[in-house]
Amino acid sequence: MSWLNRVRNALPFVARKETTDHLWHKCKGCGQMIFNKEWEENLHVCPQCDHHGRIGPKERFQQLFDDGSVEILPNPKVAEDPLKFRDSKRYVDRLKAARTDTGEQDAYQNAYGTIAGRGCVIGVQNFAFMGGSMGQFVGEAFIAGVEAAIARGVPYIVFTASGGARMQEGILSLMQMPRTTVAIEMLHDAGLPYLVVLTDPTSGGVMAAYAMLGDVQIAEPKATLAFTGRRVIESTIREKLPEDFQTSEYYRDHGLIDRVTHRRDLPAELAQLIEFLGRKEAA
Ligand SMILES: [Zn+2]
Repeated sequence: MSWLNRVRNALPFVARKETTDHLWHKCKGCGQMIFNKEWEENLHVCPQCDHHGRIGPKERFQQLFDDGSVEILPNPKVAEDPLKFRDSKRYVDRLKAARTDTGEQDAYQNAYGTIAGRGCVIGVQNFAFMGGSMGQFVGEAFIAGVEAAIARGVPYIVFTASGGARMQEGILSLMQMPRTTVAIEMLHDAGLPYLVVLTDPTSGGVMAAYAMLGDVQIAEPKATLAFTGRRVIESTIREKLPEDFQTSEYYRDHGLIDRVTHRRDLPAELAQLIEFLGRKEAA
């Protein structure tokens, strides 16, 4: 034992000073320190620069649904680690770590509730869980969300956030692209709307599947939306891309999506769309 440790151990125990780290949030947009309480009350949006922080299912449901109306829907059961995959770590260990970090089973959660009194099922993809990657669980959960919406005769709304397909499940994760597409067709056959809200970031196989198949495509401001990253495209076409390339606003200005909507305006806008698209008898 070094002399320093000996001296330290001999000293009377002094409680470590309460850290103030958990009281503050540093904005990823402008670097401003914001009181966590203020950050949460402002829907995880920076009051200085309007940067929209990444949020998971819990926060999303709380922000959107009417108080007391939320019913968390059951998660699907899927075979775990079907390929016995291992890179630098075993896939099962990565899953375990992500579960401990997030308290969620996987990267997707459905809930039923009402927005301004109008019922809908909402599915939220969670970027904090292995980059929101789409494996069998996410595919099954998406389909379960659609089936719940059909059973209740309400629209299905998805909030996407994903790096793409989950490589640890190989072809089985890619198979979720056609499966979710068929599920959306089932929703349409039932005469129900499918709405997409793209959030930061949405890319890869998710962007190439259910993220771009909405009857109405909304995005949160300044979200990064892409199939392939900027670097890959620039090196392929050997051209410099515009600064705002692959952002919500660029997509809206070039006709790929319908709206860019601030987080605080989402409940009112979604309620209006549900009202508008759900009125079958009026037609
Ligand atoms: Zn900021």
